[in-house]
Amino acid sequence: AKRDGGSSARFFESAMNQSAFERLVLENELRDAVLKDQLVVFYQPKIDMKTGAVAGAEALVRWQHPTAGLLSPGAFIEAAEECGLIGEIGDWVLRAACIEAARWRTLGIEIPVAVNVSAMQFEREGFAESVLHALELADLPPHLLELELTESIAMENPERAIVQVQPLRDRGVNFAIDDFGTGHSSLSYLTRMPFDVFKIDQSFVRDMTTDPHACIVVETILAMAKALKLETVAEGVETQEQFEMLRAEGATLAQGFLFARPMPAHDFVEYTQGGSAK
Ligand code: C2E
Ligand code: CA
Ligand code: CA
Ligand code: CA
Repeated sequence: AKRDGGSSARFFESAMNQSAFERLVLENELRDAVLKDQLVVFYQPKIDMKTGAVAGAEALVRWQHPTAGLLSPGAFIEAAEECGLIGEIGDWVLRAACIEAARWRTLGIEIPVAVNVSAMQFEREGFAESVLHALELADLPPHLLELELTESIAMENPERAIVQVQPLRDRGVNFAIDDFGTGHSSLSYLTRMPFDVFKIDQSFVRDMTTDPHACIVVETILAMAKALKLETVAEGVETQEQFEMLRAEGATLAQGFLFARPMPAHDFVEYTQGGSAK
């Protein structure tokens, strides 16, 4: 049925205004969140597929919103990128994660912490300095920090990515390509990229037991990683079947709800100590 064009246009306009207004509220609250210490970092274990030991952790930011509760990054990272707060938030997460990994060391848990880096954060002038500063502040050896860059960030401008990555990697910081398999990596760049880890995107892990194409993607990534002598992390491992298949194919680390969800720092230490005592 045909509707009155005028009123539907008005409706659309007001919906747009509303969402712009909501976005403004969100941005203001987010500014507050940084100042008022409402951000928290959760940690999700990465499991060594051979030994079952906790071999690393990914830092994942959360926002303890005063009225809405605990928010996942999906609810605010994009807004943070758009209003330019991602730099501040990214730096905060980086420092918090380095401090936490340094604390783990004092407890005898010597494992690297992985931190996600957004496009804007990565492209910023002074990116390397802010990373080195966080390491210094926490007194964390660089080899215990891993930075996760999505494949699309890394491959958007590979020449420039190499320039940004190299000085940190020379100091011992590790780099992982996140969401690997979803972007458009050029093979020739891939072999030249100074990376240490491929993180197989969870969409392939999810589908690999039912979809032969996903399985081929996983096998190809694992073969490539082997040839390049890189470590591989399978993300989003939820079932024993996925785990067995990945292990048989030679993935080195697994991360996913099958083992643990992202959790507060305190729980992570307990989980890791409990696991290593087994
Ligand atoms: P990501 O880097 O790909 O992180 C993995 C996401 O998958 C996390 O969602 C994690 O909770 C979820 N996940 C882990 N295991 C499983 C599983 O077995 N099944 C399923 N369905 N999901 C699983 P989360 O914490 O909501 O983070 C979403 C995205 O937000 C991250 O995706 C990352 O791109 C971004 N993000 C998180 N923390 C930060 C941060 O500190 N800075 C930046 N720039 N981005 C962040
Ligand atoms: Ca990640
Ligand atoms: Ca990922
Ligand atoms: Ca992913």
